[in-house]
Amino acid sequence: MALINEHFLKLQNSYLFSDIAKKVNAFKVTHPKERIISLGIGDVTQPLVPAVIDAMHKAVDDLGSKETFHGYGPDQGYSFLIDTIIRNDFTSRGITIESGEVFINDGAKSDTGNIGDILGYDNSIGVTDPVYPVYIDSNVMAGRAGTLNKGKWSDVVYIPCTEENNFVPDLPSRKVDILYLCYPNNPTGTTLSQKELKKWVDYALENNIIIMYDAAYEAYIRNPDIPHSIYEIKGAKKVAIEFRSFSKTAGFTGVRCGYTIVPKELNGFTSNSRRISLNQLWNRRQATKFNGTSYITQRGAEAVYSPEGKEQIKASVDYYMTNARIMREGLLECGLKVYGGEDAPYIWLKTPNHINSWKFFEKLLYETYIVGTPGVGFGPSGEGYLRLTAFGDRNDTLEAMTRLRQWLI
Ligand SMILES: *Cc1c(COP(=O)(O)O)cnc(C)c1O
Repeated sequence: MALINEHFLKLQNSYLFSDIAKKVNAFKVTHPKERIISLGIGDVTQPLVPAVIDAMHKAVDDLGSKETFHGYGPDQGYSFLIDTIIRNDFTSRGITIESGEVFINDGAKSDTGNIGDILGYDNSIGVTDPVYPVYIDSNVMAGRAGTLNKGKWSDVVYIPCTEENNFVPDLPSRKVDILYLCYPNNPTGTTLSQKELKKWVDYALENNIIIMYDAAYEAYIRNPDIPHSIYEIKGAKKVAIEFRSFSKTAGFTGVRCGYTIVPKELNGFTSNSRRISLNQLWNRRQATKFNGTSYITQRGAEAVYSPEGKEQIKASVDYYMTNARIMREGLLECGLKVYGGEDAPYIWLKTPNHINSWKFFEKLLYETYIVGTPGVGFGPSGEGYLRLTAFGDRNDTLEAMTRLRQWLI
């Protein structure tokens, strides 16, 4: 008899974005003529830049002739891409990363979810709250989360990030072994300064904790005091794995490419306290379960770092960040409280008059035909907030602000 992994049965059936879609569809039935503006999606809308397209076209041609054909690539990724990443994303910031520490993948979601394969089932998990759902759900599947009551998993330590602490998480009140940090943050759009991040690295060093650092939105940082990589903090290579993605940086949400840094100095422990290199374990895991990102995709990712690529990508990031500025200014003008949006493509809006997230979502939908994402969908501390994204079209963003001004002023 084939048994299933029963931890899957603990996962909630309904998923935030399908609940939203249901409510939007119900609205459309009764309001067929109204034009909805979606500021809810976490996906990019600008096309791939020409430098990437050209590189991918050329890579397709490479595969079409015997001399330049590529079959299976190296497990960790092609050195043309790994070396380019190290030079541009790390060496340029004074960080030393070896080629054996970079693992090219098909996006950060896969690795943030799969990294648990090399970690013991008894680890306790800490997350900032609200949070990107993948960190929790992948641990639920592995049996590390316990049971769900009132929106919280019993074995997960939730570290609230709210207006009260200015979205800077305090050190956890309970012991954790694995800690997930995502900065710039999805969903709040807030960041941590060097000093605030150092507090976490020091804490991890003192307590033998591993930090899973998701830097998917690194390209959106404008403020020079905000670290782009956790390895800018001294000692972080001993305690942190960093996840990067070309999805939000370069519009690769459909192409699929990212990379993970697993430093060679990073150790985990056996139950009898023997130190084991996580780099070796992850290498073994990937070599067994992953056969690499396509040659065409890796050539496309390499082009992100060419002089033309950099310029073109900067233009699309600037486009989204101009949307973010338009939204921040518009919402502030309406007398709303907004957070984020300065070093990230997300705006975290405090609902007016203490309305709950879903009520405000519905009011916004029915009275302004704008779709946001209810903050509570990202965790209990998201109650009373709504996430808006800057990934929309410029005209839609402007129109949404006009509607809000008419609604609220
Ligand atoms: C979008 C996003 C990613 C990127 O995921 P990919 O699988 O690389 O597309 C990673 N982390 C967070 C928090 C995100 O919002």
